[in-house]
Amino acid sequence: MQKPVGIGSERVLAGLAGRGIVESRSPWMHEQEADALGLRLVYALFDFSDRNWADEDLPKLLDATQRVGFSGINVTFPFKQAVVPLLDDLSDSARAVGAVNTVVFQQGRRIGHNTDCSGFAESFRVGLPDADLDCVLQVGCGGAGAATAHAVLAMPGTGTLLLHDTDHVRADTLCGQLQDVYGADRIALCNDPVVGARRASGLVNSTPMGMAKFPGLPLPADLIEARHWVADVVYFPLETQFLAAARAKGCRTLDGGGMAVNQAAEAFELFTDLRVDRQRMRNSFAAF
Ligand code: NAD
Repeated sequence: MQKPVGIGSERVLAGLAGRGIVESRSPWMHEQEADALGLRLVYALFDFSDRNWADEDLPKLLDATQRVGFSGINVTFPFKQAVVPLLDDLSDSARAVGAVNTVVFQQGRRIGHNTDCSGFAESFRVGLPDADLDCVLQVGCGGAGAATAHAVLAMPGTGTLLLHDTDHVRADTLCGQLQDVYGADRIALCNDPVVGARRASGLVNSTPMGMAKFPGLPLPADLIEARHWVADVVYFPLETQFLAAARAKGCRTLDGGGMAVNQAAEAFELFTDLRVDRQRMRNSFAAF
């Protein structure tokens, strides 16, 4: 592990920068895992809304945390893309997704990673083994959507990915980026979710719909069929209205908890160079 310098020299310092994150489970998950591993780790929340900071203050936060010896920081909305020009290098997945949720400070350099993408992929592999990936309809083309789309397209056996977003510009932009990487024939825009759901073997919600703040479903419940598998990125609550409707129809489902735990687990490993116990982190997540 890189030896931190400055005030963090006797412990590992990490944190999360974003807006509206005061209720984040990340400090709890990281610190519980560190305790279990016998490591002193402090995980700070830098909520730009709560602290009345401007988005333009992000470079100052990176400078300050790097200077005082943080191992790195996680970044979330609205900084996953804004942070990219402030970094020295990107991991392959961050470069492919075009977004970063984990910045590691390493020998004076800032390396950006995207553990949302691998976190969703691993959750999917474990939670929905043998899912039919012939045609996947994904709703939501923002930060989480970019990560899940890359994860889905990189899974063995995926045929076509259909993208739907109420913000057509976002859908169009992500579609173009994905086509450049995976081929124009594998990704299509879906303006009519009725048609998309009929074609699809599985449905992914990558919108905030279903969060306590955004009640409702990303697609009308009557479009869900028993033959669909249904995955959600929302994890607060774990049982979204979308997943509840899918379960009621007998669908196989995947909640957003696995992605949340996996992205944190990988970030922890990047910050500390230690291996975590993912089941223990999942238990911490559930106990929050
Ligand atoms: P974002 O604002 O970047 O993107 C959301 C997208 O959804 C936008 O493009 C928006 O236009 C679209 N959208 C919203 N409502 C829609 C609807 N009804 N139909 C179609 N499109 C709609 O947000 P984000 O950062 O991508 O986050 C989305 C969700 O993912 C949040 O709930 C966040 O908590 C969750 N998330 C979960 C994890 C995890 O680890 N499980 C990780 C990252 C994000």
